[in-house]
Amino acid sequence: MAIDFTLTPELEAVRLQVREFIDDVVRPGETRINSERLDSTDRNEYLKVLLGMRAQAREAGLWLPHMSAEWGGMGLGHVELAMVQAESARTYYGPWVLNCQAPDEGNMHTLEHWGTDQQKEDYLRPLCEGSKWSCFAMTEPEVAGSDPTLIRTNAYKDGEEWVINGHKWFISNAHRANFAILIARTEDDPDIPQAANTAFLIDIPSDGWTEVRQIETMHGSTGHSEIRIEDLRVHESKMLGGQGQGHLLGQYRLGPARLAHCMRWIAQAETALDMMVDRSLNRYAHGSLLAEKQGIQWLIADSTMELYQAKLMVLHAAYKIDASRKDSAVDFKGEVSMAKHFVANMLNRVIDRSIQVHGALGYSTDTPLAHMYQHARWARFADGADEVHQMRIAQRAIGAWKDTGSTHRATGDLPI
Ligand SMILES: Cc1cc2nc3c(=O)[nH]c(=O)nc-3n(C[C@H](O)[C@H](O)[C@H](O)COP(=O)(O)OP(=O)(O)OC[C@H]3O[C@@H](n4cnc5c(N)ncnc54)[C@H](O)[C@@H]3O)c2cc1C
Repeated sequence: MAIDFTLTPELEAVRLQVREFIDDVVRPGETRINSERLDSTDRNEYLKVLLGMRAQAREAGLWLPHMSAEWGGMGLGHVELAMVQAESARTYYGPWVLNCQAPDEGNMHTLEHWGTDQQKEDYLRPLCEGSKWSCFAMTEPEVAGSDPTLIRTNAYKDGEEWVINGHKWFISNAHRANFAILIARTEDDPDIPQAANTAFLIDIPSDGWTEVRQIETMHGSTGHSEIRIEDLRVHESKMLGGQGQGHLLGQYRLGPARLAHCMRWIAQAETALDMMVDRSLNRYAHGSLLAEKQGIQWLIADSTMELYQAKLMVLHAAYKIDASRKDSAVDFKGEVSMAKHFVANMLNRVIDRSIQVHGALGYSTDTPLAHMYQHARWARFADGADEVHQMRIAQRAIGAWKDTGSTHRATGDLPI
């Protein structure tokens, strides 16, 4: 067995090209957007800067790193993608500029796998071209989002149409999306609770789809919407995947999408650690630099070790996703679950320590840390809450023990 963490020269060149592009194009654009507060002061100029960066990414061939060449993408595997996503997420807008941002990125995988040829032409193609945006509408205020078998939004058949009624919230990107992948209950009495839901493609705007508000969150009001759905009619051709397959589709979508979050979170954590070290080398108190104090070295050491663990976990989970594409018997769910839990918590801890080392400056918005901290908090419960992942991880360990007399299978199934 070969264990080799180096990239081929061609892929290393791609990684460096992404890094250079982020430094030379995205960082200056982002600095301009932030310093002139273009988002709120001059919307046209804001869009011009954003779309200009996208056009340059496309021209440079740094477009859709997660998609195959057939869809205009870079055709990278998940291990290679981890490197590119991590490079792009060193900046806030990087993933968006490369058109590999959530939730579009997960929706593209979903459409590619589950869509009919017509659905791919109508929805996937424009998403890949960057001319449409999407959202994924599953969570509801009335029931626990952690348990999709409780979904109440329902759809019933009327001739060639489905009629949908329900209530969704925290639907990222819904405010600007051209369509949604919506999960609704279609089965009253499924064989198993996981077979109650079905996915539909909903054009936005549509009669019966109402955006109630963009929910104000601890990181502002940035496009997580509450949606009312009243007698919304969709043609049966807009069903995505089979009837009762909504849960399966959600699970398929969430595996790689969760790992893509981890790849971006690693970049954020590394930025926070870089800043922690830099600050500690430049701040003097009680007779020495902060970097010379053991208390600060422990913060740096713990963060360094945890970031290293996170990188290894993400690379291994990505490797298993790639392997599952060649051999469907390879199961990556346990590795993705452990990586998602670990990286989300590591991210919160490392940013928190970096803020600590920066003192009042870290608490201010003069550095990106405060903003990063606000965003990092949701990582511990969105796309699977910590406790739900822990429940599944424990179930896998117990199951492995019962099946084989060893927990080995549940700890990455590695040859060690
Ligand atoms: C910024 C942001 C963006 C989001 N974007 C989207 C989106 O685009 N589309 C979408 O559909 N949803 C989205 N969500 C919703 C997200 O997926 C849900 O918040 C998540 O699934 C958890 O559901 P919930 O909030 O209803 O919490 P609940 O399910 O009510 O869980 C609350 C808490 O209960 C505990 N808990 C739950 N189950 C268990 C268990 N089995 N054992 C022990 N403890 C448990 C956990 O501590 C959990 O954090 C987003 C949320 C945020 C914050």
